[in-house]
Amino acid sequence: MKFNYRRAGSLKEALEILSEGDESLKILAGGTDLLVMIQDKLISPGVLLDINGLEELKGIEESNGRIRLGALVSHGQIAADKLLREKALPLVESCGEVGSPQIRNRGTIGGNLVMASPSGDSIPALYVLGAEVSLKSRDGERVIPIEDFFTGVKKCVIRPDELLISITFPALGPDDRGFFKKLGQRKALAISKVSTAAVLTLRAGVVVSIRIALGAVGTTVLRAPRTEAFLTGKSLAPEVITEAARLCAEESRAITDIRSTGAYRDEMAGLLLARGLEKLA
Ligand SMILES: Cc1cc2nc3c(=O)[nH]c(=O)nc-3n(C[C@H](O)[C@H](O)[C@H](O)COP(=O)(O)OP(=O)(O)OC[C@H]3O[C@@H](n4cnc5c(N)ncnc54)[C@H](O)[C@@H]3O)c2cc1C
Repeated sequence: MKFNYRRAGSLKEALEILSEGDESLKILAGGTDLLVMIQDKLISPGVLLDINGLEELKGIEESNGRIRLGALVSHGQIAADKLLREKALPLVESCGEVGSPQIRNRGTIGGNLVMASPSGDSIPALYVLGAEVSLKSRDGERVIPIEDFFTGVKKCVIRPDELLISITFPALGPDDRGFFKKLGQRKALAISKVSTAAVLTLRAGVVVSIRIALGAVGTTVLRAPRTEAFLTGKSLAPEVITEAARLCAEESRAITDIRSTGAYRDEMAGLLLARGLEKLA
């Protein structure tokens, strides 16, 4: 296989190159998905545009109660970050479950989103955190709520002339709790059969609000609105958790594919929710 390699020296240069409209060009971040696709001959790009030198796409910052992650932040950086552990625990737990140490050190959060795989582990966590995705082209920037970013299996709204620049979301407050739980074939180096993420506000042991997201059960991440409504206003008593797990399994209506059956995924989506809630209780 042969391709030209270009390394963007600045964001402006990267956006200029993308605006040229070369359909054979692919953006290279960590390469953990892209290089596998090239190796497996699923794609054969004419040009690889390496964006790893772009400082604007790096860093983890908090400002005015919002957290910003550059698109090039790796899963390993997120999993080890103290600020995120305190204020975005579901994301820390999800990135800590990606692949293996080698994959986590190379693979980026931006690449995970643009791949738009139904089993992308950071995605359910970003749903429950209420994240927004910033996309930039030579013509300007647009900010998309995460729920509007994905349009199907491995499909999202990013245009060929755009770069994913950053992801932002509100930092979790003192009354907020959250978790991410994943079930794969093995404990490491396994794509999710199903994953469950949640963020809830708890006051005096009562759920004031909750967001639940299920990964790998459908073409994109699913929310569980009936389970969320059921839990709101309740304390996390064992019988409440059991009923929430049952409702969540019912709402999941998962697909069957090579990794698992829909029925198993449904049951496990509920069980993962129950495990997370039990720990919080
Ligand atoms: C062995 C193995 C195990 C894995 N395990 C998991 C797992 O458990 N969970 C999981 O979720 N994923 C897993 N993955 C998938 C992969 O590691 C992640 O999806 C990773 O986050 C991809 O990021 P990257 O930086 O490597 O992307 P790349 O491979 O560099 O790029 C992926 C795609 O995104 C595009 N892209 C990347 N960054 C940008 C940007 N900023 N703007 C626009 N387009 C961009 C690229 O052009 C390409 O099309 C695994 C992969 C391997 C090989």
